[in-house]
Amino acid sequence: MESIRSPSQLATRIGEARHAGQRIGFVPTMGFLHEGHMSLLRLAKSRCDLLVMSLFVNPTQFKPGEDLATYPRDEAGDFSKAESCGVDIVFTPSEEAMYPPGFQTQISLPKLFAPLCGVSRPSHFSGVATIVTKLFHLVAPDVAVFGQKDAQQLAIIRQLVRDLNMKIEIIGAPIVREEDGLAMSSRNVNLGPDARKQARCLSRGLFGAKERFESGVVQSATLIAAARAVIAASPLAKIDYIEIRDAQTLEELTVIDRPALMATAVRFGQTRLIDNVVLTPLVE
Ligand code: AMP
Repeated sequence: MESIRSPSQLATRIGEARHAGQRIGFVPTMGFLHEGHMSLLRLAKSRCDLLVMSLFVNPTQFKPGEDLATYPRDEAGDFSKAESCGVDIVFTPSEEAMYPPGFQTQISLPKLFAPLCGVSRPSHFSGVATIVTKLFHLVAPDVAVFGQKDAQQLAIIRQLVRDLNMKIEIIGAPIVREEDGLAMSSRNVNLGPDARKQARCLSRGLFGAKERFESGVVQSATLIAAARAVIAASPLAKIDYIEIRDAQTLEELTVIDRPALMATAVRFGQTRLIDNVVLTPLVE
């Protein structure tokens, strides 16, 4: 496995791979890898000749007061996990290399940025869309894999690639969960023991709603109320939102008559967790 820190060195290496006719796969990450990231890497590896993983804690997607300083990091551990999943190149640029003095371009998808996590994190998705666009230009992948865990991010990336005519196949990979149902996240290590126990309420609430949907309940308000009751029963949980929206456009849905995203964000102290399920009506 090669480790590359400089963007220009990466571009040269990618040029060589392209020249040799290799199909390039890409998985962007912020590191502190867990089984969720590793499932993306294995999936990407099965779809390419040269697998590139970026490891960059992108400062522009954190707002002041968020957990940039305490975001967990373990570069040595990440390198060995990446290698075990068949990563060929790990790209770990410095902040200065990605955002040199005078940097000013912003990518904006106003309709997809606004709802859900965009309400409490208004600049977050601009940071995400801009860094992903930069990374897409540097890596020039044929295929890139993102987790369904960050469903709003995935909807944004799909739209960005369509809008800007990028020739990149975007694959959404299923959410990998702990045994009790908690969606794996690098931030889970920051949960205290009580919060960690209670954090299973997110998936319990969402799965319960999904079961009710599958038994015929299609009113969003009913399903949201059911999930809210389960999550709110955990004393440490502070609900940021629970919503049901069109899975692609993220427009609000009062009745689930097309594929829908039921998503939630919940705070446990300083740690904010997100989770979601997709509700897909059966076609008659
Ligand atoms: P992050 O390092 O948090 O930026 O995540 C990098 C990629 O891993 C994103 O595409 C995430 O959606 C994905 N990811 C994070 N957690 C999970 C999970 N539990 N299951 C599947 N994919 C995940």
